Amino acid sequence: MPLGNPTLRQLEQKEDFIDRHIGPDDREIDSMLSFLDMQTLDELVEKAVPNKILSKRPLDFDRCQNESDALAYLREHVARKNKVFKSYIGMGYHGTITPPVIQRNILENPAWYTAYTPYQSEISQGRMEGLLNFQTMVTDLTGMEIANASMLDEGTAAAEAMTMSFSLTRKKLKSHRKFWVMDDLHPQTLEILETRAQPLGIEIVTGNIADFSTDEAYFGLLLQYPGSSGQVRDLTDIIANAQERKMLVTVAADLLSLVLLKPPGEMGADVVVGSAQRFGVPMGFGGPHAAFFATRESFKRNMPGRIVSVSKDVRDKPAYRLALQTREQHIRREKATSNICTSQVLLAVIAGMYAVYHGPEQLHRIARRVHRFAVILAAGLEKLGYQPRNRVFFDTLQIQVTPEQRRDIEARALAAEINFRYIGDETIALSLDETTRREDVGELWTVFSGNADHGLTVPDLFDQVSDQYPAELVRTTSYLTHPVFNTHHSETEMLRYLHALATKDLSLTHSMIPLGSCTMKLNATAEMMPITWPELANIHPFAPADQVEGYKQLIGELEHMLAEITGMTGVSLQPNAGSQGEYAGLLTIRAYHQSRGEGHRNVCIIPSSAHGTNPASAVMAGMKVVVVNCDKNGNIDLEDLNAKAEKHADDLSALMITYPSTHGVFEEGIVDICRVIHEHGGQVYMDGANMNALVGLARPCEIGADVLHLNLHKTFCIPHGGGGPGVGPIAAAEHLAPLLPGHRLRADAFPETQTTAVSAAPWGSSGILPISWAYIAMMGRGGLKKATQVAILNANYIAKKLEPHFPILYRGLNDLIAHECIIDVRPLKASCGIDVEDIAKRLMDFGFHAPTMSWPVAGTLMIEPTESESLAELDRFCDAMICIREEAAEVENGNIPAEESPLKRAPHTMADMVDDSWDRPYSREKGVFPLSWVATNKYWPTVGRIDNAYGDKNLMCSCVPIEEYA
Ligand SMILES: *Cc1c(COP(=O)(O)O)cnc(C)c1O
Repeated sequence: MPLGNPTLRQLEQKEDFIDRHIGPDDREIDSMLSFLDMQTLDELVEKAVPNKILSKRPLDFDRCQNESDALAYLREHVARKNKVFKSYIGMGYHGTITPPVIQRNILENPAWYTAYTPYQSEISQGRMEGLLNFQTMVTDLTGMEIANASMLDEGTAAAEAMTMSFSLTRKKLKSHRKFWVMDDLHPQTLEILETRAQPLGIEIVTGNIADFSTDEAYFGLLLQYPGSSGQVRDLTDIIANAQERKMLVTVAADLLSLVLLKPPGEMGADVVVGSAQRFGVPMGFGGPHAAFFATRESFKRNMPGRIVSVSKDVRDKPAYRLALQTREQHIRREKATSNICTSQVLLAVIAGMYAVYHGPEQLHRIARRVHRFAVILAAGLEKLGYQPRNRVFFDTLQIQVTPEQRRDIEARALAAEINFRYIGDETIALSLDETTRREDVGELWTVFSGNADHGLTVPDLFDQVSDQYPAELVRTTSYLTHPVFNTHHSETEMLRYLHALATKDLSLTHSMIPLGSCTMKLNATAEMMPITWPELANIHPFAPADQVEGYKQLIGELEHMLAEITGMTGVSLQPNAGSQGEYAGLLTIRAYHQSRGEGHRNVCIIPSSAHGTNPASAVMAGMKVVVVNCDKNGNIDLEDLNAKAEKHADDLSALMITYPSTHGVFEEGIVDICRVIHEHGGQVYMDGANMNALVGLARPCEIGADVLHLNLHKTFCIPHGGGGPGVGPIAAAEHLAPLLPGHRLRADAFPETQTTAVSAAPWGSSGILPISWAYIAMMGRGGLKKATQVAILNANYIAKKLEPHFPILYRGLNDLIAHECIIDVRPLKASCGIDVEDIAKRLMDFGFHAPTMSWPVAGTLMIEPTESESLAELDRFCDAMICIREEAAEVENGNIPAEESPLKRAPHTMADMVDDSWDRPYSREKGVFPLSWVATNKYWPTVGRIDNAYGDKNLMCSCVPIEEYA
């Protein structure tokens, strides 16, 4: 609206981020409201949300009005307060150089970071190729047969290997519940193993590798290679001995070292896990990074996480897809062996591309340099009178010192802005990495000798030393031989490769991704910018506390914001995804019951509509799952709930409930449901994946939840990254807050009462927390509330617009829904054979990503528009859905056989268009430009419909030359 005669104040008014985050402007909001026969957003909330859950107290925190304000604050109060010292700490986190072409074109490129998990294969070929590169790199370097597409971190990957070994050995080794762990292991990995082992009744035994004996009844072993100390050992014999007794052996390995060292696969390992962080992913104060998990082909059905494989499309062209989906928790629920859902796709893609860009020769040079500098450093330190404790190493030395020496060296190191790892009073450990230069080695000698005139030079020593592995530890096999690792080495080639892959994928840069429960909202550029600032990116998770004052501030403020939003007392940012939050929250409940002498409480009630991670997490937390039914309106069957709560009153531990429900409805009974659980001695765990419908309106704590997780990668704007990273913090009420996860390596920051760690890093994926902080700060109390209101408005608008064409499955108060709606496609399937998959594939021709398919109800689509989508985009989506409904009517009317309809032949590719033998009963134009606006912004799926069954039958999970595949 033009300003008539503006005042100075009006002219000076700052641009407001709220207007940019929320899609519809006030005029559009008004027109949508009147379409729903309402006047105001408040009226909508009054009608849609049960009065008794609404919070009386508005949110209370300060606000930055726009991007410039937020970035200025983050620079001043966060980045500037961190001290970026050179890190030689190691422990699985190393300095690395993110190649700029990768940083800008993947990490900072919304075409990569705003994409969703590649469930819709035909529009996800780019990132699946990236993941296949990652899997190939991991299988090659570890010497294993098959690898998955990433894990959350090295510690949880090791824990998953332990539980996989446990379940695989059940038949042969029934009574064995002990897991043997080599003592030269990263301490954070050991802590996670202990956390995971306890509820499952697994006993962790640690020991020196020389003392390992197969006389004891272990079901599996975990070895580290090179050890946390840096020592490299030949593991062949211990692996063979253990396997003779049917034990399974996991090796936690350092990926870069495997370029030079004989890989664990060649030593016989059953599983190899580790972190790919040093392949171009900044340390970020602990994460996010991609961990990896590689194993034998024969264990593929038990392997955690997702796997990309090669199948073929309708034209017999090779095409990528997610393999073996039947293993996942979505399907196996309480029988699932892992709860991982969101993993670390973006980071895995980066690590894979690091290998693509460098190629085997450059990688070899990097590894050789790191190692040779370590050898030179060790030789120099010896000349200075220091004794390395380890003789065979890749990049890490442990130096023996006296307590006095330690004190002096530490002081000199800090003065030179250098961090080492200090182990007790008599050992200093240091790890070199890709960033180490000859000047750094000289500086290290100076720090150790206390004298810049130490007389040592790198070139002199270079001539005196050589690589020093015994022959049996030297890698002799080739790696990364596939063409993809040998072609894109110039920046031009790499840039085009990355761009070519990105354009194959549909992301938020093209159109809305209306995935119910996944909340694909705006990931604002300004929110993303700080994550690559060196003051945030290049910080080791175990850097001394006084160097991370900025992170402390950021974490403290974010915890406060999330506590205020949820009404809870304590917040833990440690869990790396929603699933990990569930697990951590349930452990908190478990610890609470134990603290009251009620440790026997182990029943977890879960509604049948729950997300698959819920029952999987409950089982991992040692609980017994009892399912409660839903009634025909999609609400929890209160009678069933009462009966089950009563029946299990003596051993009830928790209820896991999603609110608003997974059916997209504000269940009215929620307060009563929570009361019933409390009356029977249980605690209420709320799955907060749907918080986008509550923020600023209602607080879970006031509704009756005791602990909940939030998905910062849903509600709080961390991008999905094509399937991760995620952050799944938990917030707990006063009585549970002291039991939230702690971390032994940060005993200073966590009280002793806390539970042991669930993630490798004390604050999980700290590096991406600025995103959620910036979102909350820029929206403030008013913006967050309005965002929630508009999310509800957008969903109800779509529901009403689509209602004449598709039945809406569930509704709540006043026939309104929450922030998402489920449309029922089962009647169409019955009348003409068109199913959800056909609609999903046909939407691709319109340039849309399908809504959530067949969850939580089979044969339905769940649509969540979020507040970020404008009215025009909502209308385009509805037009596409209505057009699809008309195409289905053509089948219903018998005008066109189902098999011949554009719905079954979708998606349409360029190859289809140029095919001379086009013989379909509809025009080519109808195929690719079903509505006029599609032509102006056409997205082309690059492959036709993919054959899933073929892919599972002919499992191929690493890069294969296309000729060979055909
Ligand atoms: C996304 C989701 C989860 C799992 O969260 P991740 O971050 O993917 O592990 C759990 N419950 C519900 C309802 C969800 O939508």
